[in-house]
Amino acid sequence: MTSPKSRPLWVGTSWKMNKTLAEADRFVDKLLTFPIPRGIQAFVLPAHTALARVRDRLPPDSHILLGAQNAHWAREGSWTGEISMRMAKDAGATLIEIGHSERREHFGETDRTVALKAAAAVSHGLIPLICVGEPLAVRDAGGTLDFVGVQVQIALSELAPAEIEQTIIAYEPIWAIGEDGVPATVDQIAPVMAMIDDVVTTAGGSACAVLYGGSVDTENVADLLTDPNTHGLFVGRAAWEASGFIELLKLCVGGSQ
Ligand code: PEP
Repeated sequence: MTSPKSRPLWVGTSWKMNKTLAEADRFVDKLLTFPIPRGIQAFVLPAHTALARVRDRLPPDSHILLGAQNAHWAREGSWTGEISMRMAKDAGATLIEIGHSERREHFGETDRTVALKAAAAVSHGLIPLICVGEPLAVRDAGGTLDFVGVQVQIALSELAPAEIEQTIIAYEPIWAIGEDGVPATVDQIAPVMAMIDDVVTTAGGSACAVLYGGSVDTENVADLLTDPNTHGLFVGRAAWEASGFIELLKLCVGGSQ
C-alpha cells in the first residue's frame, strides 16, 4: 500500500552491534523466504562488517535496500575507526543512518556533524536516514516540538531543497528506544510527526519520508501507522530476528496512511 503521495511505506531495521557473518547469513536466508509486499520499501542496516556480505547474499534483483549505521563526512583520510560514505556505498549501502541517539550520547555526534554527514551522504548519491528525538526530561518539560524541530532544521541546513527530497528522517524519542524504552502512542507522536513535516516542507518545499522508531513491535505497529504523517517504521529489537521482521512486514500491509 502506498500513501496519498505515492510513497512506499518504509520499514526497516538496524542491527546495531549485533550479528556475526554466520548470523547475518541466517537472517538473510530466512528473510528471502518472504516476498516483500508491493508498496513496502524494506531496508536493513547491518553492522559495517556484514554489509558487503549481506549485499552479496541478496539476489541481484532484490528490492531490499541496505545501509550503514554511520559514516564520516570526509571523503577519506586519517579518521581511525571510521568509514567514509564512499566506502559504505562500495560495500552495498544505499542508506546512511546519521545521528542515532546512541551515537549522539556515546560518540559525540552533534547537530553539526549530523548536518555535515547528511550533506556528504547526498553528495555521494546516498540517502541520509537522519535520527532525531528528545530525552524524557525535555518531553516532560513540554519542550519536544522545539527540541526536535531544531534538530531537524540543523540536520537539513547543508542541503539544497532538491536534496531534502532524498532525505529520510526518523523520529525516535529517546525515552521510547531500547529495552528500557516505553513505547510511544500514536497520540504522543502525531504532533511531532506533523511538526517535522512542516519543518521539512518549509526547508525544502517538498516532504521526504518521515519514519517513527522506538519499541515498535507487533502490538503497536497498526496503531502507529494510523498517523497520516508517518511514512514508515524504523525498528530495532523486534526485527533482529528475520521471523520478527517478517511478522512486522505482514502487519504493515494495508497499514499505511
Ligand atoms: C532504535 O534504537 O533506533 C530502535 C528503534 O530500537 P528499538 O526498536 O529496539 O526500541
